[in-house]
Amino acid sequence: MTLITSIGKRLFSLIWQRFLEADNMIRIKSFTFSPIQENTYILYDDIGECVIIDPGCYDDSERQALASFIEENKLKPVRLLNTHCHLDHIFGNGFVSEKYNLKPEFNKHDLPVFHAFAATCNLYGLSCDPSPEAESYLDEGDVVKFGESSLEIVFTPGHSPGSITFYNKDDKFMISGDVLFYGSVGRTDLPGGSMETLVNSIKTKLFPLGDDFKVYSGHGPSTTIGFEKKNNPFLQ
Ligand SMILES: [Zn+2]
Repeated sequence: MTLITSIGKRLFSLIWQRFLEADNMIRIKSFTFSPIQENTYILYDDIGECVIIDPGCYDDSERQALASFIEENKLKPVRLLNTHCHLDHIFGNGFVSEKYNLKPEFNKHDLPVFHAFAATCNLYGLSCDPSPEAESYLDEGDVVKFGESSLEIVFTPGHSPGSITFYNKDDKFMISGDVLFYGSVGRTDLPGGSMETLVNSIKTKLFPLGDDFKVYSGHGPSTTIGFEKKNNPFLQ
């Protein structure tokens, strides 16, 4: 009897632990913002802290949509992260920085891109809210923590000189910015871009993470590494 009770207890605790682990997966909310249709991501877990990646909110209604989601889900933004600093990925940096008292964090090699923000906005005839400067920078091997979760970083240049990809091994996903898209890759004709570097980044940094990794891109639908390995014409 005691044996059965103890097996029962053990089983219950195993199942409960599984339940807790499964339940504490990172949740990913995506928005598609601005005339450039950029994907903005909010990542959070049960603890209620969140990170905002590439806030591309461009006008008041988009800023409101982002803030409402955070408020309705009682989230506390703890980091503002940029995969890279092209204008459409930092449109909302100013708003997020001010509202949540955060400074943007990105890779140092994208500083020239970051500093071209105002000029690029003028070029496209867009009115842009300036972004505050970063106070610290992200590099390969860094770990970003929020709640009980964390994201690791790989350096994936080519689309821009300082593009980085955030990933989580347990939940098997990555936020790839404009490095890798469903059936395509990021453009490489902007300053600091290189197709050779980009393809090399994808093959040496993203492919090894595993075929079952889900890819959340900066534009368009999500995909997987396995699908892109097989079908992406730029990566054959
Ligand atoms: Zn870009």
